[in-house]
Amino acid sequence: MRLTFYGVRGSIPTPGADYIRYGGNTACVHVALKDGTDIVLDSGTGIRLLGELLIQKSSPIHILLSHNHWDHIQGFPFFMPIYQDGREINIYPGQTLLNEPTQILQQMEGSLFPVPSAALKANIQIQTLHTDQHKFAIGEASIRRLPLNHPGRGSAYTLEVGNSKIAYITDNELYPPYKKETEFLEFVEFARDADLLIHDAQYMVSDMPKKNGWGHSVAEEAVKLAMACNAKKLALYSHDPERTDDDIDNVVTHCKEYIAVAESTLQVFASTEGQTLDFN
Ligand SMILES: [Zn+2]
Repeated sequence: MRLTFYGVRGSIPTPGADYIRYGGNTACVHVALKDGTDIVLDSGTGIRLLGELLIQKSSPIHILLSHNHWDHIQGFPFFMPIYQDGREINIYPGQTLLNEPTQILQQMEGSLFPVPSAALKANIQIQTLHTDQHKFAIGEASIRRLPLNHPGRGSAYTLEVGNSKIAYITDNELYPPYKKETEFLEFVEFARDADLLIHDAQYMVSDMPKKNGWGHSVAEEAVKLAMACNAKKLALYSHDPERTDDDIDNVVTHCKEYIAVAESTLQVFASTEGQTLDFN
């Protein structure tokens, strides 16, 4: 499978010269399976550019949503395949506290957007899973999901094909001040031996305690999880909109120092728009 980052920013897009290297679009990751299946993780503003690629195909598209916060769905009205006649698009909503599986379509209603979702030409299916269903398949991929620690909750996902495993855990607070949906050790089991762990790393220790409870993790905590679950690579994700490219460089440097002290072989990097990783 081939993974490409299309949006790596948390909360709100960040255009501007200081954000060009890592990119300013909000959450979207594309995973292309070798069997031709297209899986999209989240539908932030990054999905617009992905649409230009996928509109050249006619095969089904599967969108896994972590949750419905705006930065994870706001690109959907500009995802061109939704206007493609009969294009099959399956949307898997996250495990949100309020059961609102159609919010991604509702954002197009009324005075919010010029085209109502009823006018979309694609065959859009909302695939609601039973709350207890944590495992399913899309194409040749086995998918697992787990609740996030986040205001309004949501879902983390793992994708496995053969011996390759990707974990996508964003908008997740590993050590929240509120009651946890998922314990740290449960995330360790969930992401165990991942070839790539994509994890929320929006904050530094210096951002705390002000942002304690906001639903995101401190970068060191993501490193700790990656080492504990024996991940090969950690992609720091959901960059703070107030952090420039140079600031993100400093976060990566800090994480590398932490890993060196722990004498771990973990590879860490900051997710970057357009970056592609291949897995067997
Ligand atoms: Zn969120």
